[in-house]
Amino acid sequence: MSSTRQDSTRRKHPPDDEVIVDPWLNRGCRDQRLPRGSEFLCAFDCWVIIDAVPVATFVHAGQTRDELWLAIGIDHIDPLAAAAEIMIHGAPPPPAQLGVAVSKARRAGPEATPLELLEILFRSWVGHGAPSDFLASGLVSGDEYHALIARLEQERADNAERAARNETEIVVAARELRLNPRPSGTGGDHWRANCPRTKHSLEIQARNNLFFCGYCSRGGGPEELQALVDHRAAWKARQSRS
Ligand SMILES: [Zn+2]
Ligand SMILES: [Zn+2]
Repeated sequence: MSSTRQDSTRRKHPPDDEVIVDPWLNRGCRDQRLPRGSEFLCAFDCWVIIDAVPVATFVHAGQTRDELWLAIGIDHIDPLAAAAEIMIHGAPPPPAQLGVAVSKARRAGPEATPLELLEILFRSWVGHGAPSDFLASGLVSGDEYHALIARLEQERADNAERAARNETEIVVAARELRLNPRPSGTGGDHWRANCPRTKHSLEIQARNNLFFCGYCSRGGGPEELQALVDHRAAWKARQSRS
């Protein structure tokens, strides 16, 4: 933690808010305006489920925090012009949205680099969205963008391979319960499996023999997983009787 914390940003954020991530701008970011002095990083398509959504990214170096600004749903015909318009007017034309997706406290060291902030954003998208076609370059070039994506993909592949080599009891249980466990790639012992009778997935930490579903707020070990499956099966049976 930085020792210089007597600035105004500190009061707005708890001291442990080293990095604040709002990957899809859900935290009341509407009507935010891009600060003057911000710089355009790059524009690219983000794949969300079945759609490519054009986005533009900007960086703003504040007094105490470095921010990655994200514009979601920009005009895809001329992304460079769209980015320039946002820089001039401080906001994109509706229905595009603009807000701070990543905010990183600056320690004693230098400002966070654009690629560092992009990396945080891409990691936070894993499992929900993925950067794809490069559309326009500013501070970040197409080569840098593709190199970053390649590095993150390699890391995921390595993680998945390690996880696959280290199956534990909870992974075996998930397979026996037909929840299709598969390495998620986010860590060397991270797996994902289907949350029983839902359309979403739950997370598994193999080393600790634990699962957790953020949507359902359910978690535990192999026994709790079995109990969740039984509970959902009973619920389904009751439903079909009525
Ligand atoms: Zn803030
Ligand atoms: Zn669930």
